[in-house]
Amino acid sequence: MTAAQTLVAGANEEAQYLEDLIRHGHLLPSGEPGIYGRGVVFEHVRTSLDALITRVCAPDHPETPRFPPVIPKRTLEKAGYLTSFPQLCGVVYSFCGNDASAIEIAERAERGDDWSRHLSPTGVTLVPAACYPCYPAVALRGPLPKGGITLDLGGCYVFRNEPSQDPARLQMFHQREMVRIGPPDEVHSWRETWIRRARGIFETTGLDATIAPASDPFFGRKGKLLANNQREQGLKFEALIQIASERPTAVSSFNLHHEHFGSAFGIQQHDGTVAHSSCVGFGLERITLALFRTHGIDVRDWPGQVRRQLFPEDTPPGE
Ligand code: ZN
Repeated sequence: MTAAQTLVAGANEEAQYLEDLIRHGHLLPSGEPGIYGRGVVFEHVRTSLDALITRVCAPDHPETPRFPPVIPKRTLEKAGYLTSFPQLCGVVYSFCGNDASAIEIAERAERGDDWSRHLSPTGVTLVPAACYPCYPAVALRGPLPKGGITLDLGGCYVFRNEPSQDPARLQMFHQREMVRIGPPDEVHSWRETWIRRARGIFETTGLDATIAPASDPFFGRKGKLLANNQREQGLKFEALIQIASERPTAVSSFNLHHEHFGSAFGIQQHDGTVAHSSCVGFGLERITLALFRTHGIDVRDWPGQVRRQLFPEDTPPGE
């Protein structure tokens, strides 16, 4: 096949898989690509996966704070998100005009015309990565206890502006993130522990995942250098699984930030030095989609060992 034929075949596979998911009630279309409701069985698998990660995480005895899916714009700026992903960012806009423009906006909406010019940006953006809200919150508490802290932030909805027909590329999805903030050596070994744990999660759920070094898509002239540095220093690893696309999809990432967030948000260790951090993220919908793709669209057909691992105490709906 030529490269163009391969692309078309990949797009057909994605469209076919999306159609299967919708026909079986796993994804509920909204009319906008990448924005779907989740059916009962899909949601049961996703929350069971979430619970499996909670069981794997238990030995860390993490704190479990929760944050809303919007953050102050300033947090996004400080985190450095705009250096790597300005194209994925979602800012919340709202109306703050006068009576006349309020009437005009309603009329334009009624006609199906563009009404966005009447809106102005608010102070918040949609959360693009579940760990961002925790850094300013941790900094506010003052210096860390000796040995640092571990957080389990749960499965938070995050937003990425990347409309696509690939069901594994959603605009809004749950990212399950765990974060370790503290001394460099402990942060590093925690990240290595999670790479091992993730291998175990994928193996026991029958998913063929490869964990490989990765880099973020930095922009501009310095971008290539930054991306190469990230790879050479082993700062980012991703777990990749073949879902419906031609190329494997990243379902999970394991990141070392060194002092990046510690110095951006002013997080100190107990001795006053800047804290290091690491985060581990699982894309819950992507892994759920990989499970349906690998084991079949009907949960009742899944191998017993996979079902026991995911649903240890109950039976999935439909049985
Ligand atoms: Zn993170």
